[in-house]
Amino acid sequence: MVVIGAGLAGLFAARDLAAAGAAVTVVDKGRGVGGRVATRRLGPATIDHGAQFFTARSASFAAEVAGWLAAGVAAPWFTGVLGADGIVDDDGETRFRGVPAMTGIARHLAVDLDVRLGTRVAAVRADADAWHLGDDGAGAAGPPPRRADALVVTAPAPQTLALLDPAVLDPTDRLALERITYDPCLAVLALLDRPLALGPPGARRPSGEPLAWYADNQAKGVSAVPALTVHGGPATSRTFWEAPDDEVVATLVGAVPAVAAGGARVLEAQVQRWRYAQATARHAEACLVLRSGPPAVVAGDAFGEGGRIEGAARSGMAAATALAERLGLG
Ligand SMILES: Cc1cc2nc3c(=O)[nH]c(=O)nc-3n(C[C@H](O)[C@H](O)[C@H](O)COP(=O)(O)OP(=O)(O)OC[C@H]3O[C@@H](n4cnc5c(N)ncnc54)[C@H](O)[C@@H]3O)c2cc1C
Repeated sequence: MVVIGAGLAGLFAARDLAAAGAAVTVVDKGRGVGGRVATRRLGPATIDHGAQFFTARSASFAAEVAGWLAAGVAAPWFTGVLGADGIVDDDGETRFRGVPAMTGIARHLAVDLDVRLGTRVAAVRADADAWHLGDDGAGAAGPPPRRADALVVTAPAPQTLALLDPAVLDPTDRLALERITYDPCLAVLALLDRPLALGPPGARRPSGEPLAWYADNQAKGVSAVPALTVHGGPATSRTFWEAPDDEVVATLVGAVPAVAAGGARVLEAQVQRWRYAQATARHAEACLVLRSGPPAVVAGDAFGEGGRIEGAARSGMAAATALAERLGLG
């Protein structure tokens, strides 16, 4: 069977299906595993530019996080609710980060899996027995597997809708996917000439626009040198979506008080445009078992409670359970 997407949902689904005895291939168009859990090098800096931290509110995910802590691929980062001026409410809840950076958790999950990176699925069709995966030649690592007896799709819902043959998709399933919405996020990654000197935990979460988040990756424990991640708020991200990179950098970095006050200077910067950053309208169930075609389940952070990293992980696990049941595995 094939899992489309090596983000948290896809990796959890693949891990559990493989454990149930399935032969699983994971394909992802990206160069690394993790999807929106993303880390990039910028000169001497290492920068988490997608998801910044995660919480563990359910027993099932807390057990996974305990395993990650024991394996040394996650660590506590801070406790409490972060605001514009630091921790504003000590809710006693730990916020975790990946080790050595956020992608550490995805790499750990992928270790025993057959993951084909740089492999973009362009279209998914079906006949009576199987799914057929098409490519448009854009995949850097070659075409995806051509045929799959069962499928898990974890791309953001608009991309999943574009992939699946409309002739196969049941109208109820189509409507469920069409109802899912996301906020975009413009992210700036910047190498700094000195630390932001925010004090622990090295990050701030302003409430509103233009910024949703900024952090010094060195203070976070991810980068050897001072390096900034800035996330625009949803409205600002929409407004500046088409703007040139230098305008995005000036707008977002210029809004970071410690930079605006002349405390740190940007040496080099990059922009990442996350079109589907966080799900804003989600499907109530933890995954969607397709009503028509060969066995297939759609999963991701837009399914079930909570969203985000924990929601994606739980959705992936739910997808594996649903598909294993349908196939009589395990
Ligand atoms: C800027 C930003 C900040 C965030 N901050 C946090 C945070 O602090 N805490 C938190 O918990 N969550 C945060 N999130 C949300 C969190 O990252 C996501 O909810 C979670 O990672 C989603 O996982 P997923 O597996 O559902 O989707 P994804 O991670 O998006 O995985 C889907 C994968 O499918 C692949 N794919 C798509 N189409 C194809 C195709 N046609 N062929 C092959 N592969 C394909 C993609 O390349 C991708 O790797 C943040 C997200 C962003 C963008």
